[in-house]
Amino acid sequence: MTERLRIAVEGVVQGVGFRPFVFGLAERLGVSGFVTNRTGDVVIEAEAERPTLERFLLELRTNAPSAARVDKVVATPAEVVGDQAFRIADSDVETVGAAAIAPDVATCADCVAEILDATARRHHYAFTSCAACGPRLTIVTSAPYDRARTTMAGFAMCEACRAEYEDPSDRRFHAQPIACPACGPALSAPIATVAETIRSGGIVAIKGLGGYHLACDATNETAVAELRARKHRDAKPFAVMVIDVDAAGELGELDAVGRALLASPAAPIVLAPKRASRLAPSVAPGVGDVGVMLAYTPLHHLLVRALPNLPLVMTSGNLSDEPIAFRDDDACDRLGPIADTLLTHNRPIHMRCEDSVVRVIEGAPLILRRARGYAPAPERFPLQMATPTLALGGHLKAAFAYGTGDIAFVSPHFGDLDELSAYEAFVAGIEHFGRLHRVTPKQVVCDLHPDYATTRFAETLGLPTIHVQHHHAHFASAFADARLHGPALGVIFDGAGYGGDGTIWGGEILVGDPASVWRAAHLQTVPQPGGDRAAIEPWRMAVAHLAAAGEAYADIHPDADKVAALLPRATRTSSAGRLFDAVAVLAGIVMGSQYEGQAAMMLEALARGAEPEPAYPFELAGDELVVAPMIRAIVRDARKHVAPARIARRFHTTLVEMIGNACAQLARGEGLRDVVLSGGVFQNAILATEVPAKLRALGLVPHVHRRMPPNDGGLAFGQLAVAAAREGVG
Ligand code: ZN
Ligand code: ZN
Ligand code: FE
Repeated sequence: MTERLRIAVEGVVQGVGFRPFVFGLAERLGVSGFVTNRTGDVVIEAEAERPTLERFLLELRTNAPSAARVDKVVATPAEVVGDQAFRIADSDVETVGAAAIAPDVATCADCVAEILDATARRHHYAFTSCAACGPRLTIVTSAPYDRARTTMAGFAMCEACRAEYEDPSDRRFHAQPIACPACGPALSAPIATVAETIRSGGIVAIKGLGGYHLACDATNETAVAELRARKHRDAKPFAVMVIDVDAAGELGELDAVGRALLASPAAPIVLAPKRASRLAPSVAPGVGDVGVMLAYTPLHHLLVRALPNLPLVMTSGNLSDEPIAFRDDDACDRLGPIADTLLTHNRPIHMRCEDSVVRVIEGAPLILRRARGYAPAPERFPLQMATPTLALGGHLKAAFAYGTGDIAFVSPHFGDLDELSAYEAFVAGIEHFGRLHRVTPKQVVCDLHPDYATTRFAETLGLPTIHVQHHHAHFASAFADARLHGPALGVIFDGAGYGGDGTIWGGEILVGDPASVWRAAHLQTVPQPGGDRAAIEPWRMAVAHLAAAGEAYADIHPDADKVAALLPRATRTSSAGRLFDAVAVLAGIVMGSQYEGQAAMMLEALARGAEPEPAYPFELAGDELVVAPMIRAIVRDARKHVAPARIARRFHTTLVEMIGNACAQLARGEGLRDVVLSGGVFQNAILATEVPAKLRALGLVPHVHRRMPPNDGGLAFGQLAVAAAREGVG
């Protein structure tokens, strides 16, 4: 007897060759009906005899394409309609409401084999892709996703490509970026020429998937130092690209999870503890990790093979903190003076997208920068949003998000919005995303900070606006990331956020749920002299903490007295990030200016190399986590010339103990067990590992971020959660 099922498949199932796979499967098994994309999932109607349908369901789960991730298959009986064949319905036809756009996917193994096959039509062709891999978000100009609405529209398919595109049994069936040497984009210069420039110590600008990279020989100290000088980048680490996981493993310590991440369709930069290697010292000075990634486009595959056994620096093509260059004329202007050679091509990039950055914590990925390969894959929410909502995030590590129903579309990372060009790109991205995903927001969520560019932008939209306190948004982000229900504790250790009470927050323990939280405890507040300058001149915070602890500060810096005079009138802060700054100075690790977060990274790197150390003294006094006793003990240690690595280690242990004790007390008082951990400080691998371990030992249930970054890149997701939760309570 013929039956019909309506099957919804959730997960990463769009833009990864899933519909052609379903089509092929249906043809093979003799199933009729159709497959179509719906917001965030794929819907199939399948008609056949029962045993055939069961086989079909089984293979849907087990034989999906490599880049797909099937999370859930829900089959419900439907009325038999007597379809004669199976077809791929236009995405449009069956879709109501929002539309999902797939992230870009790293070149698949089949395509790599093809470009290396001397007999293949696409031998050495740098724009080879298929239905399971290649550019997606970065080439889409409008929705729905098909070739006419991508930057491939200007390339007419040749007959051979057209035949593949139309053949349901071909892996390029409906592959929108399909191309070949006869009909597709071309490089501006031979790869061999560019490889020669790199081999001889030069710097090249290379057009990639979501923007330009600057590349050089990562083992050549002169070349790397020269790149730093020309790019005006002092100390921030550069990422390195290699050919395969074994080559990556020579540079950093990678476990099975890290290796799998490198080779995954998202192909992010994976941070791994540095090994002694041939890498030039200037690649990642003063930090404990090296960021490695694998070649992820055919162009990269050809380049790394032209330079056998040579790791390449691959860093964003920009000057200092500007946004990454992605338009060809702009790249020429801005990167021309930095690079010796430019390797470009004529497939336009419509939307910039930087490389994602991930580290492995407790056997699972922790995303630090969510961009290429991850964004804008729809992320499901444990909450429902009846009102389509735009959330604008914060100011640094900017990312916005659209929410509708139980889905969030979170944009790729846009960087810091201080630069006008970054802000303009952010605003253009908001408009582009709204059209692509077909969401028209009816309300907007932003930070409480009156001076964030995003807050001011919210005010121009003429929509009902929800202001969410910065650390409340961090809390809600981790809460929704972990799909919790009911109240929880939240340890939000961060750089800085507008507190709403005239102080700067950043070392908070909050209690509540996305709808509302209260501040149950916080790090001891001290003055933050000079406001934002304190983040790049960490000695200022050392003066503040020394003064608060009743210690002498005059020797810290020639201007220490001048800064001390500012203390009585300075805004007070509970920032954990600024505490790291102060401790790094007291331990003798940093003195002069730095990039924000540098002191924290250096402390972490030193602590990781040290033996276990007991905690420094601290106090829990009322709602304050008092660090003055620790500051006094660090001063004594420094005076005795205790190694900075030991001080760094003791400092980390102190934070773990202090957070653990405070949470245990509060959890008992409130009758709670779940603890979410968020804020930029939880990018720190020691804290992201040891705080959960401590909480577990105390009988609590910790939750670290998995889908969103713990830093401000995850704020928009949290702001959506707050809006959704408040909607629920009216
Ligand atoms: Zn492919
Ligand atoms: Zn062709
Ligand atoms: Fe933050």
